[in-house]
Amino acid sequence: MSKQYVFAFDEGDGKNKHLLGGKGANLCEMTQIGLNVPPGFVISTEACLEYQDLKGLPPGLMDTVREYVRRLEGKARKGFGDASNPLLVSVRSGSAMSMPGMMDTILNLGLNQQTLQGLIAQTGNERFGYDAYRRFIQLFGKVALGVPDEPFDEAFDEIKRDAGVKADVALNAEHLKEASRRFLDVVLQHTGKPFPEDVYEQLEIAIKAVFNSWMGKRAVDYRREFHITPDMANGTAVNVVAMVFGNMGNDCATGVGFTRNPGTGENEMFGEYLVNAQGEDVVAGIRTPKPVQEMEKEMPDLYRQLVDLRNKLEGHYQEVQDYEYTIEKGVLYCLQTRNGKMNAAAMVRSSVEMFEEGLISKEQALLRVNPEQLEQLLHPGLDPKHKQAPLAQGLPASPGAASGRCVFDADQAVILGRAGTKVILVREETKPEDIHGFFASEGVLTSRGGKTSHAAVVARGMGKACVAGAEGIQVDARARLATVGDVVLREGDVITIDGSNGNVYLGEIPTIKPEFSRELRTLLGWADEVATLKVMANADTPATAKVALDYGAMGIGLCRTERMFNAVERLPIVVEMILAHTVEERQAALDKLLPIQRQDFKDIFTIMAPRPVTVRLLDPPMHEFLPSEHQLEDELQALEQYRMSVRGRTAAVAAMRLDHAPDSITEDQVSAIIARKERMLRKVRELYEVNPMLGHRGVRLGITYPEIYDMQIRAILEAAAECRQAGTPVTPEIMIPQVITSQELTFMHREVNRIQAEVESQTGVKLEFKFGSMVETVRACTRAGELAKVAEFFSFGTNDLTQATFSFSREDAENKFLPLYTDNGILHDNPFEVLDVNGVGMLMQMTVEQGRKTNPALKVGICGEQGGHPASINFCHKIGLSYVSCSAPRVPVARLAAAHAKLKAK
Ligand code: PEP
Ligand code: MG
Repeated sequence: MSKQYVFAFDEGDGKNKHLLGGKGANLCEMTQIGLNVPPGFVISTEACLEYQDLKGLPPGLMDTVREYVRRLEGKARKGFGDASNPLLVSVRSGSAMSMPGMMDTILNLGLNQQTLQGLIAQTGNERFGYDAYRRFIQLFGKVALGVPDEPFDEAFDEIKRDAGVKADVALNAEHLKEASRRFLDVVLQHTGKPFPEDVYEQLEIAIKAVFNSWMGKRAVDYRREFHITPDMANGTAVNVVAMVFGNMGNDCATGVGFTRNPGTGENEMFGEYLVNAQGEDVVAGIRTPKPVQEMEKEMPDLYRQLVDLRNKLEGHYQEVQDYEYTIEKGVLYCLQTRNGKMNAAAMVRSSVEMFEEGLISKEQALLRVNPEQLEQLLHPGLDPKHKQAPLAQGLPASPGAASGRCVFDADQAVILGRAGTKVILVREETKPEDIHGFFASEGVLTSRGGKTSHAAVVARGMGKACVAGAEGIQVDARARLATVGDVVLREGDVITIDGSNGNVYLGEIPTIKPEFSRELRTLLGWADEVATLKVMANADTPATAKVALDYGAMGIGLCRTERMFNAVERLPIVVEMILAHTVEERQAALDKLLPIQRQDFKDIFTIMAPRPVTVRLLDPPMHEFLPSEHQLEDELQALEQYRMSVRGRTAAVAAMRLDHAPDSITEDQVSAIIARKERMLRKVRELYEVNPMLGHRGVRLGITYPEIYDMQIRAILEAAAECRQAGTPVTPEIMIPQVITSQELTFMHREVNRIQAEVESQTGVKLEFKFGSMVETVRACTRAGELAKVAEFFSFGTNDLTQATFSFSREDAENKFLPLYTDNGILHDNPFEVLDVNGVGMLMQMTVEQGRKTNPALKVGICGEQGGHPASINFCHKIGLSYVSCSAPRVPVARLAAAHAKLKAK
């Protein structure tokens, strides 16, 4: 064997996670920095890949494994398979990217009829021996031999029932001996073969089982969901580690911890432990563990050692760690460490505090926080004004508040979730196979388990609300209900959970948006200092401008004026303008719109002052402001029938010589409405375009109906003049959409100059503003050099530019074939969400280069949806854009992403 596939913990490279997996690399690293780690070795991910190719272990691998087991025996001073002094090992999976619970692990391997007796004799603890044995048979049976859990659980429940006990700890040695005997029978019945006695055979089967679990459905689904590609993690390593026991008596314990509170980020000891228990008991939620603070009283010396371990881990990794430990007969062993998965609030707080404590630099603090994660901080919390008493209380396992209908299994969560129903997954406890239910749910509620239970860890990672261990709730998944005292929750009943305090409520409670914390403001302030890219917002009302400003927008990069036309009281005036027969009629409508637009701009300019506001002139085709042809036809039909009935009633009234009107509306009035609708229908038919997205829109409107753009330009400049007169320093920017040629820009620029002269002479104010172009057609990209002679700035409209580059309709592609393209890997991402750097990006790069060749001072930004996406922002930084503009809630994400882009480019 030429390649080295096996590495002892004292020889493996602790930085090489790709080769040794995260767990293996960290075990090597911890061993080499002198932490008390049980001895062991790692079989590399390369061996796993080889195994997948060969459909078997690489030749000679088991010989090397035997050699490393012999070394391990030397370090542990025990013998593998030795009947009097047996070495037991755990066999654990671990890939470069953490995939909690997605792959398999086997404990207590090396037990058989003989070594069991050795273990019992050595520990003088028969109960412990049989407990370890029955656990091993079940786990090995399930993971390595494919025996389901149920027959084991049924046999075990029967033993407990016969013994009249509820908790596992209440079973004595005889009960556990009986359990081991029955479990061996279960294996024989299910596999047709006796349980393997040979310890090396056990080891070989276990290694293969772990390698197989890399391609298991759970792991494959997880990788797909979290976009874990082969260059991020390829294959799992296998860690073979000498067992240490937390369940040998009351001077033993097992626990898990975070070096800081993963819910809040607070710098405090955080975690849970169980005395006389094995690791999986804490995570599985079988017994409810104690908070680590209790250890200070119960085992003060060990608590001090644990504090020391925590400090060393954080000091070394300069990162919050999620660690597992076992105390065996008063000795503390660290079994695992990995970077702690925390919610966004905790990441932000710990980043800022770790910098303030001198542990990390500002740059490290910024890079620790994933920009995408920041959106979690905008998650709603419960309105504090609500008066409702909680129905039950559990542990605050993952912050955020969520309401939804109760569902009691993951499949049902998916069915209802897909149908658009908000659901809360309610379980006794969750297991890795429930993962699809997490994706489909608003939040998760469990009745058992602690803050480090599976439900808690997974929900936190996903930023979903979770209340765990609400023990007052009895969950009966089979009957699809849960009871809390006298209250029965059935599937479909609405509940609200608050993952920040652990409360569970009946019904839906209103939620409110959270405030920015001091730490978030600090971190984003650092981001702004570092970044070159400015972050603007797309906003078109004073209200959204205020929100954008609050989120730290440095201006408005896109104010879509058409959105202002859509307000209820304005639409009729816009319709009047569209239906106008003559320029005079159109002008009359525009005269009514002018003061309205001017006030809008004044309000927005004032809110944003002195920051720039880029106003885009009218873009969509006119028919978008009119009802559809179908709607008008239906309405006309109904109105015609109504007119007939009014006419009939009027005639009847006349015939009966009655003098009062049959109805308040007259035939004439109905006829007038019909006439107006008919006019609208004619206009809709006249404006009809087969392909409106490529039709009469943008600057083409400005050229065919110059009076519309004139009104808008005048409103902008008059608003700016009024602001200046009021002492408000404003810098508007006028932006022309859908440009294809410099002649269009020159035409519009002349109009702007003319109106500027008029406004300046009317108001006596010297106006300062910029004139620029959207770049959202392919031709604009190819003519950038010419456009930049007229434009002072460009803004990439990557929604339209993506549509044009791909020839994908932006209205339809995402609902039709695009999901199939991304699922099949034909396209890596949806290009309307993530900038297509290879296609659209190349056009952008060329545009920036050509534009700046003619006009070195040219300001260039992006205002399509992709402008708020971190990877796209990274690309925008690389090609030298001046700013990105995105929706207000994405602004914090974009600010951090802009800083990341700069730091990563270094
Ligand atoms: C764009 O096309 O990217 C853009 C910002 O304009 P709109 O989405 O309004 O067409
Ligand atoms: Mg556009």
